[in-house]
Amino acid sequence: MDALTLGSQRLIHLDLKGAPPKLCYFEKFFPLIKDLGATGILLEWEDTFPYTRELLPIGGLSNSAQVSGAPYTIEEARQLLDMAADCDLTVIPLVQIFGHMEYVLKHEQWRHLREVEAYPSSMCPCNSETMALVRSLLKQIITFHNGIQYIHIGADEVWYMGLCPACSKRVTTGKYAKPGLYLDYVTAVAQYIKENYPNLKIIIWDDMLRSVDTQILQAYYLGTLVEPMIWHYNSAETFNLGAPLWEKYSNVFTNIWAASAFKGATSSCQILPINKFHVSNHEAWLSELGQHAGKILNFKGIAFTGWSRYDHYATLCELLPTAVPSLSLCLKTWLNGGYNQELHNSVGKMLGYNENTPNFGSSLRTPVLPTLSFPGWQVFVGLEWFVNLRGKYRNIVDSDQMHSWFNQWQVLNNYTNPMQVDTILPVITDLLNELMSLETYLKTHLEPIFYQHTIEELMGTLVDPIKKHLKQVKSDCETQLSLGCRVRGQRRLNI
Ligand SMILES: [Zn+2]
Repeated sequence: MDALTLGSQRLIHLDLKGAPPKLCYFEKFFPLIKDLGATGILLEWEDTFPYTRELLPIGGLSNSAQVSGAPYTIEEARQLLDMAADCDLTVIPLVQIFGHMEYVLKHEQWRHLREVEAYPSSMCPCNSETMALVRSLLKQIITFHNGIQYIHIGADEVWYMGLCPACSKRVTTGKYAKPGLYLDYVTAVAQYIKENYPNLKIIIWDDMLRSVDTQILQAYYLGTLVEPMIWHYNSAETFNLGAPLWEKYSNVFTNIWAASAFKGATSSCQILPINKFHVSNHEAWLSELGQHAGKILNFKGIAFTGWSRYDHYATLCELLPTAVPSLSLCLKTWLNGGYNQELHNSVGKMLGYNENTPNFGSSLRTPVLPTLSFPGWQVFVGLEWFVNLRGKYRNIVDSDQMHSWFNQWQVLNNYTNPMQVDTILPVITDLLNELMSLETYLKTHLEPIFYQHTIEELMGTLVDPIKKHLKQVKSDCETQLSLGCRVRGQRRLNI
């Protein structure tokens, strides 16, 4: 087992399509992950890469990105790579080429490359301009990442495939139907990379291959072109890859990778990672590899994925600083070959938790802020405070008291009992005041780490709707108290 976990790569996935941190955060984050045992980063720039020339509208140099305060300039992107190199972290860039193409296909100039006209997710592999675009994307990314040995071309979750007239004809007339359409395209991209960058090895996500027959994968000589990264993010209870998959891959590939998750895999709007779930995912991976390692010719390593959004248009899930405890536990679990209390305690100590915090972060009930030591801990604590405050808010607005004495009909009809309103108003006022303190705290600690467009999105998504509602309820309470108790039917009053 040690040969598998210690003798292979341990990549930390940076999903920059959501809440990309400022460089000063990486300055602390890279040495931390190096210390924890990471060997490299799987760098998914998506729309934050400073694409130039014909691709300029896609990335961080576009007008819309610059106006909204989004990253990165060319110099910043270079600095990011330099910082990784200074920490001796290998960089593997990830650029999507088939599905998850919203960051390109949402733009009018590439709209005609969509497989389904209304949806910006998948590209049409039969359109002659698709390959030209993909070559440009790859060329800019590969040229920028000097000296890389690997590139990851994604190619997962191509939900819409074989649907346009040209593709559907290929599916019905082609020898290998839909898998043939997928493999024709992916192998053509791989061939392009091999021809132009012969030393570069190629990784793809494996999910689209899981249901394809071994014979078809062999017919395409897929194992000579790409290395699959097998992803599975579930906890042990529902972890299920199974022997036939390993059997199949061992007949096609000599090199394989695994991908686990330390954040962004439990809910598309999760705010704090569920450490237990992610640790369990790594335990399941250890067990899976323990059972099937014999079939694997060459296990290259694991990517600890940390998703920032479920897709380009989805809301943000866990921010990177909130996932440092989860990442630390997962990495240590992986390196240790399993999880135990001693490991948990040593990770806790490293992060600045005292011995009375058995589960990192789950016991905070009041805005009393602890002092921790990992980069961005203030953001973690602030969002933990938010989750607790939102819980209180939901309990109050969904309480029997509100439903029974201050519901919408009662407020609209000015038919409320001041005795009840007198007890509701201070509760709402306290909660609103606490939310405003939290807002100040969060903004203060988000600003050094995140760009303005991320802070605006977070506040607009999490804090503003609650603030607006509480202000409305407070104002309604005050109005109702000024009216006093009224006879039913005295609704239309000049107030
Ligand atoms: Zn098509």
